[in-house]
Amino acid sequence: MKFSKLFQVKPGTRVNLKNIDPGFTAGHKKKKALKEVAKLDRKIRELQCLLYAGGKRSLLICLQALDAAGKDGTINHVLGAMNPQGTRVHGFKTPTKEELKHDFLWRIRQQVPKPGEVVIFNRSQYEDVLVVRVHKLVPPAIWSRRYALINLFEKKLVADGTHIIKFFLHISPAEQLRRFKQRLDDPARNWKISESDYLEREYWNDYTQAYEDVLRKTSTKHAPWYIIPSDHKWFRNLAVANIVVETLKSLGMKFPRPKVNLADIRRKYHQASEQPTQTNVSQPA
Ligand code: AMP
Ligand code: MG
Repeated sequence: MKFSKLFQVKPGTRVNLKNIDPGFTAGHKKKKALKEVAKLDRKIRELQCLLYAGGKRSLLICLQALDAAGKDGTINHVLGAMNPQGTRVHGFKTPTKEELKHDFLWRIRQQVPKPGEVVIFNRSQYEDVLVVRVHKLVPPAIWSRRYALINLFEKKLVADGTHIIKFFLHISPAEQLRRFKQRLDDPARNWKISESDYLEREYWNDYTQAYEDVLRKTSTKHAPWYIIPSDHKWFRNLAVANIVVETLKSLGMKFPRPKVNLADIRRKYHQASEQPTQTNVSQPA
């Protein structure tokens, strides 16, 4: 079964995250999966090259997850497989004063991919119905209207030639704590520790509920959500890489037709150099 079928949230279905095992590996084994991912990465690169060369369509990948679920690792993996020319990542943080003066989609609109580009959103428009809801940053009457606004916004993007895939990286509280501890034990990762990440664990159930609503209300045919079991990094990469490949392949892209007559160009500029070389060196008698 295709990964995109296996993990896609069918539009309108109720999601119960407690019933989805973050440690699920669909029968795959790590050793083989790592080789498979290396192959998929080459495919991702080829397909991104086609997208860039075409210069018409684009790909937007939205990444959402609780802390330490692997957003950074996923970005590193997916974009690492691509040609940096034509790719971009944008992280959305707590809105600035300037951003707060505008509607919540204002800062998002400025970062959508240009034709030919692949853009990954590290957090996204969805923070405005997640952290904002959990921490009561705006009243329910405001955030509850945003699902429809987001769906409309994404529909328009898709109509204009952007393909959208949205990944929710699903981890367990125990695995999150284990990763926080690793950050503590590894000097190279100490800088990632923030006490607020620990404090956010208190809101696990609220976030779960907020995510379940996001997944039910905003997984659409044109911009589907995928729930990726992410307790195993290798499986997360395998699933994400497969879905990116399946999505890009489904576009049926081909290299654009040349803008010039190749035969003319060949005749005009290459014929002389392609003549069998005349040798003036006289043969010894
Ligand atoms: P990080 O991704 O770890 O660098 O953290 C970014 C922080 O910005 C997270 O705590 C997010 O919840 C927060 N953030 C992102 N978007 C919003 C938003 N629209 N409103 C409030 N906080 C946000
Ligand atoms: Mg953080």
